[in-house]
Amino acid sequence: MSLEGKTAIVTGAAQGIGRAIAETLARHGADIVVADLDPGRSQDTVGAVTKLGRRALNVKVNVADFADVKAMVDQVMKEWGKIDILVNNAGITRDGLLLRMKEEDWNLVLQVNLNGTFHCTKAVLSPMTKQRFGRIVNIASIVGAMGNAGQANYAASKAAVIGFTKTVAREYASRLVTVNAVAPGFIDTAMTQGLPAEVKETLQKQIPLGRLGQPSDVAEAVSFLASDAAGYITGHVLHVNGGMLMA
Ligand code: NAP
Repeated sequence: MSLEGKTAIVTGAAQGIGRAIAETLARHGADIVVADLDPGRSQDTVGAVTKLGRRALNVKVNVADFADVKAMVDQVMKEWGKIDILVNNAGITRDGLLLRMKEEDWNLVLQVNLNGTFHCTKAVLSPMTKQRFGRIVNIASIVGAMGNAGQANYAASKAAVIGFTKTVAREYASRLVTVNAVAPGFIDTAMTQGLPAEVKETLQKQIPLGRLGQPSDVAEAVSFLASDAAGYITGHVLHVNGGMLMA
């Protein structure tokens, strides 16, 4: 599964799943654009990638802003000349039962999780179609497939990412750009660390493999879909959830 010579943009790479993806792709040989809101907080990931002997570019980007995303892609093309892999990982939650959900929380989650994925994908398609090679991996969620009380905005955004993935896969297959999604279950990151202990315990009982996932569990799946080994896979949703949902 060598990614030697490949360049990859990983959004939301400062921490959590994004950081694990950046490190795993680097371990397989890719150079990494560490794209996140705060370049100071991205430094740890940049350090880990360079320690693995790969190049890292620390880029401040808000994926919700198309101009920001376009500037990032222009910078990467100027400095590295190509983009082989895009991992749309940046994502947020603003939970609440629907009756109490504020419109701004609905909009913000859709703006980052869905529009951010649209912005980054649209911006890399031009270089990828020209080079007739590309691997796009979108991070969806188990919640996009099965729903979750308190997460109407988040579930809607992730279900939409799945529909988006399948459509773009159909549109760009002829240019040898594959587009897939990884749908993690409940993963041990800052996003889930705030859950009360009893909620975590209840969740754990619903997971046949008996534990929450680790960021590396997701990163290995992403790495496979980004590799040449997955060249005949497109429009697929790979569930990484310990068996919690067998879709
Ligand atoms: P995390 O620990 O909160 O990390 C997300 C990263 O994305 C943070 O560094 C965050 O920066 C950054 N980010 C947020 N908004 C951004 C924006 N507009 N532009 C650029 N970067 C932005 O989350 P995670 O748990 O690693 O989740 C990563 C992805 O996996 C998300 O798409 C999430 O929905 C998905 N996922 C997670 C789980 C889980 O159980 N953890 C399960 C299923 C799917 P700030 O910290 O500064 O906001």
